[in-house]
Amino acid sequence: MLGRSCEFSMGTMTASDESLRTAILTVDDDPGVSRAVARDLRRRYGERHRIVRAESAAAALDALRQMKLRGELVAVILADYRMPELNGIEFLEQAMDIYPGARRVLLTAYADTGAAIDAINVVDLDHYLLKPWDPPEEKLYPVVDALLEAWLASDHRPVPETKVVGHRWSARSSEVREFLARNQVPYRWYQSDEPEGQRLLAAAGADGRALPVVITPEGEPLVEPTDAELAARVGLATTPSKDFYDLIVIGGGPAGLGAAVYGASEGLRTVLVERLATGGQAGQSSRIENYLGFPDGVSGAQLTERARRQATKFGAEVLTTRDVVGLEVRGSARRVAFADGTFIDAHTVILATGVSYRILDVPGLGELTGRGVYYGSALTETSACLGQDVYIVGGANSAGQAAVYLSRHAKSVTILVRGSSLEKSMSYYLIRQIQDIPNISVRTCTEVIAAEGDDHLERLTLRDTANGSSQTVDAQLLFLFIGGAPLTDWLDAVVVRDPRGFVVAGPDLSVSGERPAGWELDRLPYHLETSVPGVFVAGDARAESAKRVASAVGEGALAVMLVHRYLEKT
Ligand SMILES: Cc1cc2nc3c(=O)[nH]c(=O)nc-3n(C[C@H](O)[C@H](O)[C@H](O)COP(=O)(O)OP(=O)(O)OC[C@H]3O[C@@H](n4cnc5c(N)ncnc54)[C@H](O)[C@@H]3O)c2cc1C
Repeated sequence: MLGRSCEFSMGTMTASDESLRTAILTVDDDPGVSRAVARDLRRRYGERHRIVRAESAAAALDALRQMKLRGELVAVILADYRMPELNGIEFLEQAMDIYPGARRVLLTAYADTGAAIDAINVVDLDHYLLKPWDPPEEKLYPVVDALLEAWLASDHRPVPETKVVGHRWSARSSEVREFLARNQVPYRWYQSDEPEGQRLLAAAGADGRALPVVITPEGEPLVEPTDAELAARVGLATTPSKDFYDLIVIGGGPAGLGAAVYGASEGLRTVLVERLATGGQAGQSSRIENYLGFPDGVSGAQLTERARRQATKFGAEVLTTRDVVGLEVRGSARRVAFADGTFIDAHTVILATGVSYRILDVPGLGELTGRGVYYGSALTETSACLGQDVYIVGGANSAGQAAVYLSRHAKSVTILVRGSSLEKSMSYYLIRQIQDIPNISVRTCTEVIAAEGDDHLERLTLRDTANGSSQTVDAQLLFLFIGGAPLTDWLDAVVVRDPRGFVVAGPDLSVSGERPAGWELDRLPYHLETSVPGVFVAGDARAESAKRVASAVGEGALAVMLVHRYLEKT
């Protein structure tokens, strides 16, 4: 019996039509979502394929077994990740035993990158889709089309994909995985000391001493590739198409993406330059719950990936892996220089360089970074947390979010806070969530004073700041969220910065309504304008900014309005 929660599409089937014998199965425990997926699938594939819908993993497995018994074919299986009895990965694992050749897609509600990456490795996942997938024409159908094509081609060859062979405790392997995940490039991870990893290394002619080796979907091995090499291989733009723009946006976090969306949509020739991957700090957030319009929260990766697509849709150029190292005034033009010596010019510039994590200066941590010690969320390390005792340093929202997220996988999560409580630094909603999760504990008045381990983190020494006592604990994973510092040294002597390096703008530049020193225009600087006319700052990099996603996006949009005002008056 298929049960109440499973239904077949109404499409009729004739024995002569091979494709109609082929089913596409979708399982999601949320009836509304389940119906919506089935509806979208039916609209496009209902004529030629049977759409099978289930509302629980058990019902879906039942359906697959029955279809197997009836000799039917299943081409594609789409499974929700968050299901109560079996999660999507566990379900797909069992489904593989029944239909090993069926293409597998995981539906992740909040761009659950960690889960999806796990799935690529555990159940040979072909694709993961972020919910909602609207419009299906753009997000769902191209994926299912490609999978059906591959399946119908049908000696069930594996879909080509990027492979990463590396060592569990190699810092660069970890960075490469993070880079691919942040750019939403599906990859499969192989450990270099496991048989399949060794087979791949041998086939690539690599001896395994230089890791990771990334094998492109076309089968070309890249030994220890740089981010720029990877970006180029996975189709991300790295070179500007013009010499001159109306607007150069530096930084691809929420502020920069906001500026790029508004700039390009309002007809400005806009280029955004990002030194790593778009998303900024927000891209590392497992779940943002206070951004307007997302009552159930949204992962930072999903939010910023959508923004990136929106910006490019409006015609903004988005360059990644390009580090800006200089800003120069050349008459009415503003010149932005890259680390490789090349440059581009524009009428205006928006600085949206945000902040980066401060490095914790504690003996042992430097050597172990990337080998059990990670700055930021390091969502790609989620699978490593399975059954482990995980430590998090930090008392702000980012630390709280990470604790909630990692607690789903880890045996225990301990938040180490220097202060005497979380109340001063963390939002009330997160403190309450943390209190309700039994495997999270908070150690206040505690700091890390040493880290040890041979090739990876093995022990931490913690000090009680109240009584000075110290304790050494076994620890394999430590995530640090210790607040940010702006990386603006390259702006020294170009724009005015405060003593901590944040860029000063607008009214903050003027002392009692007077024009700032060196400012030659008749007017005062506009609200987000720096001490250089036509150069604006938005988001976390600005002195006295709110350090929130919404305010960064808002400032990006406002800066574009001021760019228009500047261009009109020059
Ligand atoms: C884990 C985490 C969780 C968070 N959760 C929330 C939340 O729930 N709600 C909320 O409102 N806020 C949250 N925040 C804060 C929020 O993400 C930031 O306020 C926001 O991202 C700031 O946006 P931004 O664009 O100004 O800067 P950033 O996000 O810092 O982006 C700056 C970008 O500029 C790039 N860049 C820097 N220098 C250069 C250069 N020289 N050349 C080229 N590129 C450069 C960086 O690589 C980066 O991508 C969180 C932050 C973190 C770290």
